[in-house]
Amino acid sequence: MRLLIVDDSTTSRLLLETVLQGEGFDGMAGADSFAQALELLEQAPDDQLPEVLLMDLEMPDVNGIEATRQLKQRPRYKDIPVIMVTASDRLEDLEEAFAAGADDYITKPVHRVELRARVGSAQRLKREMDRRKARELELERMARELEALSSLDGLTGVANRRHFDTVLAQEWQRCARDASPMTLLMIDIDFFKRYNDALGHLEGDTCLKAVARTIKSAFRRPADFLARFGGEEFIALLPDTNLRGGCSVAESIRQKLAEQAIPHPDSVVSPCLTVSIGVATTVPLPEADPSLLVAASDEALYKAKNNGRNRVRSAHGNTVCLQAPTEPDHADAQSDENSETAQSS
Ligand code: GH3
Ligand code: MG
Ligand code: MG
Ligand code: MG
Repeated sequence: MRLLIVDDSTTSRLLLETVLQGEGFDGMAGADSFAQALELLEQAPDDQLPEVLLMDLEMPDVNGIEATRQLKQRPRYKDIPVIMVTASDRLEDLEEAFAAGADDYITKPVHRVELRARVGSAQRLKREMDRRKARELELERMARELEALSSLDGLTGVANRRHFDTVLAQEWQRCARDASPMTLLMIDIDFFKRYNDALGHLEGDTCLKAVARTIKSAFRRPADFLARFGGEEFIALLPDTNLRGGCSVAESIRQKLAEQAIPHPDSVVSPCLTVSIGVATTVPLPEADPSLLVAASDEALYKAKNNGRNRVRSAHGNTVCLQAPTEPDHADAQSDENSETAQSS
């Protein structure tokens, strides 16, 4: 359906149809009342709505002006140009028709040339509008895609550092409001330079992707969030998680990676790829700087490295707890040394 002719008189409708057909227009549909027109419109899929609507002004029940007003109020139909077809050229009628949203008018008896010109130009206008709308939608889609891309790490597909900073700031405030603990895991691949040197950077890249997948597989909650922090370092943000919970996720990451048994030809600690993980927890204060917690997890990571790698270490309570932990589960957490797990190969 390209053109919809709404006219209570069959003769008028057929006349319009015949003239338009003679002028090369196709896809004509007719309705003898507004109700029937609505029915046709409602049945039409979005991409088959008419490009132009010819509306008789004088009709019983709902007249053309009222019909136009009602159509223009509906978002689905408001952009279809309406040409009012009227026997009268009374100024008040025309004024009312335009106020109702009509785009143009043509007087009966219609002249072939005039009809072709009016319908043709309305159709061209509609097509141009549709093209613009499609371009706008495409631009919006591309903008969304770019936005998504700019928050992701290109290699591993997890969040990048920039996105991590945004999420950390948001979660920091949320946990502060809820007086809930937040845990960060700083995860670093052991002897990754040697891995690259032994197997090449492409293998190294594949390995980074596998590590990212493995870390995610150890997450237990939808809100747990992973980002690539640097070259072969990942950072996991676990909201509403205390030290014990964080250490347990960290240990599960270490074990799941061990199960993968990715051969590392030149590691000093194991024949397979391993990671060291630093854990830091705090109950955030709204005015405190979240980067302190990042630094604390990094410090804990160094401890894990210095203690022999392939292990989980947590930061000391005082260096990370920007507020004394109050929640029972948290206070319950085992002492630093006990909550840490180490594995020597
Ligand atoms: P450590 O156990 O102390 O962490 O030793 P390491 O070799 O893992 O650490 P180091 O910081 O000396 O080296 C990190 C290496 O990670 C260096 C670099 O070759 C590698 N790396 C960083 N980014 C990428 C990357 O995007 N792809 C690959 N293939 N390798 C990367
Ligand atoms: Mg009529
Ligand atoms: Mg590193
Ligand atoms: Mg490393």
